[in-house]
Amino acid sequence: MSALTSVSGFPRVGQNRELKKIIEGYWKGANTLDEVRATAKELRAKHWRLQQAAGIDLIPSNDFSFYDQVLDTAILLNAIPQRYQRLAFDNPEETLFAMGRGYQGEKGDVTALPMKKWFTTNYHYLVPEIDAATDIRLNGTKPFDEYLEAKELGIDTKPVLIGPYTFLKLARDPQAQELEFDKGLVNAVAAAYAEALAKFAELGAAWMQIDEPYLVLDKEPGDVELFKALYAKILPARDGKVKVLLNTYFGHIADVYETVNLLGFDGIGLDLNEGKDENLAALAQYGVAEGTVIFAGVVNGRNIWRNDYAVSLGLVDAVKQVTPNVAVSTASSLLHVPFSTEGENGLDEGVLKHFAFAVEKLGELRDVAELADADEDAKKASAALTANQALFDGTRVAADPAVAARLAQLTDADFTRQPARAERQRLQREALDLPLLPTTTIGSFPQTREVRAERAKLRKGEIDQTTYDAFIKRQIDDCIKSQEEIGLDVLVHGEFERNDMVEYFGQNLNGFLFTKNAWVQSYGTRCVKPPIVWGDVSRANPITVEWSAYAQSRTDRVMKGMLTGPVTILNWSWPREDITHEQQTQQLALAIRDEVLDLEAAGIKVIQIDEAALREKLPLRKTDWHAKYLDWAIPAFRLVHSAVKPATQIHTHMCYSEFNDIIRDIDAMDADVISFEASRGDLVVLDAIHEAEFETEAGPGVYDIHSPRIPSEAEIEERIGEILKKMDVSKVWINPDCGLKTRGVAETWPSLEHLVAATKAVRASLS
Ligand code: GLN
Ligand code: ZN
Repeated sequence: MSALTSVSGFPRVGQNRELKKIIEGYWKGANTLDEVRATAKELRAKHWRLQQAAGIDLIPSNDFSFYDQVLDTAILLNAIPQRYQRLAFDNPEETLFAMGRGYQGEKGDVTALPMKKWFTTNYHYLVPEIDAATDIRLNGTKPFDEYLEAKELGIDTKPVLIGPYTFLKLARDPQAQELEFDKGLVNAVAAAYAEALAKFAELGAAWMQIDEPYLVLDKEPGDVELFKALYAKILPARDGKVKVLLNTYFGHIADVYETVNLLGFDGIGLDLNEGKDENLAALAQYGVAEGTVIFAGVVNGRNIWRNDYAVSLGLVDAVKQVTPNVAVSTASSLLHVPFSTEGENGLDEGVLKHFAFAVEKLGELRDVAELADADEDAKKASAALTANQALFDGTRVAADPAVAARLAQLTDADFTRQPARAERQRLQREALDLPLLPTTTIGSFPQTREVRAERAKLRKGEIDQTTYDAFIKRQIDDCIKSQEEIGLDVLVHGEFERNDMVEYFGQNLNGFLFTKNAWVQSYGTRCVKPPIVWGDVSRANPITVEWSAYAQSRTDRVMKGMLTGPVTILNWSWPREDITHEQQTQQLALAIRDEVLDLEAAGIKVIQIDEAALREKLPLRKTDWHAKYLDWAIPAFRLVHSAVKPATQIHTHMCYSEFNDIIRDIDAMDADVISFEASRGDLVVLDAIHEAEFETEAGPGVYDIHSPRIPSEAEIEERIGEILKKMDVSKVWINPDCGLKTRGVAETWPSLEHLVAATKAVRASLS
């Protein structure tokens, strides 16, 4: 007998992104809805069987989703805004996709729900909407159907639901600043969950899992009462038949552990990777209620490195000091890791043995559970433990002395740009000669099938580098011509030479490794394939200089150079765990600094350094913001650009504008201009900009590019009007949201034409 093993959630896109492919095929009209459903069913079966074969006791169901699990939860609770209901689709999937990605067609024209980052991951969820018209009740049967589907295969799964507290905390009322948790709403939500619980009890589920990751955040007044009120109503529905695991992850719940423990859950899932010290301290302080099993989250759901069994066993032991009732679990859902290392034949064995993706993590879970109950002799005899220990003995990779020497020489001056920003802004205005409300884009232009095909040919050796480069130059030429034609002010070359920006920089830096198939879901059907930081990082050779210089030579307008910043490169890679994130970011900052200075020397006057992911890794607890992150992340950005001339304009870009609370830190990056994604969130960030007397010039995205719909000129004009109510016109830039590379040509150019026309109309009205 060994401890119970539990998986919080499994990747759903499929080993070869089958789900992505079939859904996108359906959107294009190449596949039917029945084909989509059939593929989904096959994938679910395959994933359950894999877990069963790995000996996992509690296998999740309802962790599957066509688009997003929070969207599924909103639909399950009937939080479907009127504007989507009015489209009156015949199939629930159509409504779901309309909510996820907007709809423009014969039935109407609606934008998608806003999208936000899922805690500190690069996964995005759709923000549920609740207003006075919302009628919360259990709607549809997805979780029950999937439970029964597994049961038919002979697998008794543990159904997973996003919890009511997390759901309510993530939802917004579009009509109000804040969603009010009035009694009616709380009761309706609790009743829906109670009904779901009762249903699972009736169907015979032994366990179910309710995810409440929002518990790891700081509490606002009323939060704990809300949590208690919900569960006081929900838990009685167990009726002694189904056990409820309250699952938390991405941090600790020390501030509510006592309350959670007293509520009498059958299981409490604790993340023993992130926030392990606080969680263990809370356990030791308050103990564990009789009959409650602690699910020790020891197998990391957010890295690709092998689990260190000695560490995990130590953690399980620490829990055992408090209670004998311990299950061994993943620390979070495995949604955030790639499928399997199988097939990664481009990496040699000596490297690959250090990696564990979702499938390999199942084996680790099993090993840890077995070893946790083994006596000392059995441990000594365990080949699994011996092999695991060997991975962590000695140095995995030798340090680069040149990198260490450069870092050691840095002084405060290297982190400070001169002169002060106001003075620079004046000099830049003279040098660049731009109109009021300058228009620009965030860098990429559509990566058409043609571009991807050409890249594939190069990779397969069907064309040589010269042919490929000539092709890219033609793309750049066309892109510049179109931008000039529609009248954008600051141009970009279009980023045709890069697929994924982080992968592209990684490929040109020492210290990185790449996989073939290690995809992770980012939003909807989109996946990313982060590179791996394996050793010390430095720049191997100039990366973008030739492309940018070529592009500038093809136009009289200002050409913006396009780089990715150090914080983002690290956040969108798999970081090392043997040195700190701060150290890795500094190494990256020096590498990108070299590139910035080379671009400037090549005549590039405006350089954008994307920090798309800076906000994403902001610690969840406020007390950690500066000490554990901003205090080194913001200076690392300054290190990248501090040495440029005053007249060189530094831009940065951030995805999502949720930085109201850190607005001063954003200003402290000391960029001259920032563009940020704003159109799909609300514009409260503008108030923050206003109140903080934000110095950086800013371009809040004026239309959403994650949706295929084309915004009208009037719509954009209105948007600019809203922005100008809050910002001084001399500091405003006009640009779309980021990521045009994911759109088609057909949507991109008309949208940008509308953007330029709207800007011109506003300029005319101002003069
Ligand atoms: N320069 C990049 C682009 O336009 C930025 C991408 C991003 O913000 N995610 O695609
Ligand atoms: Zn972005």
